[in-house]
Amino acid sequence: MSNYVNKVIEETKIKNSLEPEFLQTVEEVLSSLAPCIDANPDYEKEGILERMVEPERVILFKVPWIDDNGKVQVNRGYRIQFNGAIGPYKGGLRFSPTVNLSILKFLAFEQTFKNSLTTLPIGGGKGGSDFEPKGKSDREIMRFCQSFMQELYRHIGPDTDCPAGDIGVGGREIGYLFGEWRKLSTAYANGALSGKALPYGGSLLRPEATGYGAVYYLESVLKDAKDTISGKKVVISGYGNAAWGATKKLTELGAKVIAFSGSAGYVLDEAGVNTPEKIEYMYDIRVKRQHTMKDYADKFGAKFFPNEKPWGVDCDIYMPCATQNEVNIDDAKKILNSNAKYYMEVSNMPTTNDALKLMLEQKDFVVGPAKAVNAGGVSVSALEMSQNAEKLTWSAEQVDKELHRIMSDIYNNSKNAAAKYGLGYNLVAGANIAGFEKVAQSMLAQGIAW
Ligand code: GLU
Repeated sequence: MSNYVNKVIEETKIKNSLEPEFLQTVEEVLSSLAPCIDANPDYEKEGILERMVEPERVILFKVPWIDDNGKVQVNRGYRIQFNGAIGPYKGGLRFSPTVNLSILKFLAFEQTFKNSLTTLPIGGGKGGSDFEPKGKSDREIMRFCQSFMQELYRHIGPDTDCPAGDIGVGGREIGYLFGEWRKLSTAYANGALSGKALPYGGSLLRPEATGYGAVYYLESVLKDAKDTISGKKVVISGYGNAAWGATKKLTELGAKVIAFSGSAGYVLDEAGVNTPEKIEYMYDIRVKRQHTMKDYADKFGAKFFPNEKPWGVDCDIYMPCATQNEVNIDDAKKILNSNAKYYMEVSNMPTTNDALKLMLEQKDFVVGPAKAVNAGGVSVSALEMSQNAEKLTWSAEQVDKELHRIMSDIYNNSKNAAAKYGLGYNLVAGANIAGFEKVAQSMLAQGIAW
C-alpha cells in the first residue's frame, strides 16, 4: 500500500484514538484507495487525504426538554458537516442511545462517498442525538424534536445542509422538526429537510427508496452474473424502513424473504414474508412497537429464535439491513459456509473489517458495499430537494425510473472504477474509488480552502 495512505491512516489513529467506528471506516476506505492515490501524485501534494478525513464542521449542542412527568431531561444534539465540495451537506439524523461522535463521524464520512456516488450534487453530513425514542409518548417526541430544531435551524437550509431521517427518525419526527423549522424561518423553505410527508413537499417513493434501491442494485449484480432475482431465498436483518422496502420489492420481483431479525433474535418464515399483511406486520414491530417478532411468528406460523442471529440460515442472498457491525468474523464464516453467493450490505458498515476482508477473499462470492447498495434513500432525498426547488411534484413512475437509473449508474461506475485500477470485480473498492474521485477532483479545483 502507498506510504502516503499508510501515513494518513496512522495519523488519523493517533488524532482520533477514542473514535473506533470512525477509525474502522477510515482504514477500510483509505486502504482501498491506494492504487488510485498512487496514480495521481497531486492527491499527496495537495494533502487531499488529510483534508478528507477531517470534518469541515462539527456542531455539538444541548437539547433540554420536559418529559410527561414534568421532569427536565437533557440530551446531546449533533450535526457533522463533513464535506461540502460537491454540494450542500446531506444526510440523515439518527436518534438512538448508541449515538456518539465516533458513530456520527463514521456515518458522515461514509455519506460523503455515498452521496458522491449517487451522481447528484450533494455533500456529506450526518447528525442526531443520544435520545432514546423507544417508550416515549408522541408529545415527548414532539417536544424533543422542537428543542433539537431550536438550535439546528441556524445551521441548515436548502442550499446549506439538508438533514433527513435515519434510525429512530421517520416521517413523524421529520414532521415535528419541519414544523419548528418553519416557525423559526421566514420563508417557506421546505428543501431544508427531506423525508417529508407528501402534502408539504415530500417525494413519492421516498419511504420505499432505500429498500427498492438496494434491490435495483442487486438486480444489476445478478444481471452481470446472468442470474435473476426471481425464485431466490433471501435472509435479511432488521425490520425497519430499509428492510421493509427491500422485502416489498424482492417479493414483487418473485424472491422470498425467509428470515428477518432484531436485537431480540430472529424469525424464520419458510413460507416467506410475502404478503402485504405480513410485510406491514413486520414493519409495525418497529413503527408501532405494539407487537414483537415472537408475535409475528405466532400469528403466521413461523419460528422465532430468541437471542440468535440469522447468519447461517441457508439462502441465496444475505442482506443485512439493521445497523453497524452486525456481522462479525464468526458470522462471516457461517455465511460463507452456506450456499449464498451474494451479500448486499444495506445498513451502514454492517460488516466488521476482518469479516469483510474474509468475504472479499472468497472466489465467486459477491459483496455489495453499503455506500452503494443503500444510496437509493439519499438519492430520492436529493430528488425531493429538486422537486421542492422547482415547486412541483414528480409522479411515482418518474421517481422510480430515476432511482433505477441512479442505482444502475452506481453499480457500473463502481465496477468500472475497480477495473480501471486493476482491482478486478471488487465492488467495495470500486465504490470507494468512484465516490472519492469526484470529491477529490472538486477539492483540487477549489484550492486549499477546506
Ligand atoms: N439516512 C439515509 C442515509 O444514510 C438517508 C439520508 C438522506 O436522505 O439524506 O443515506
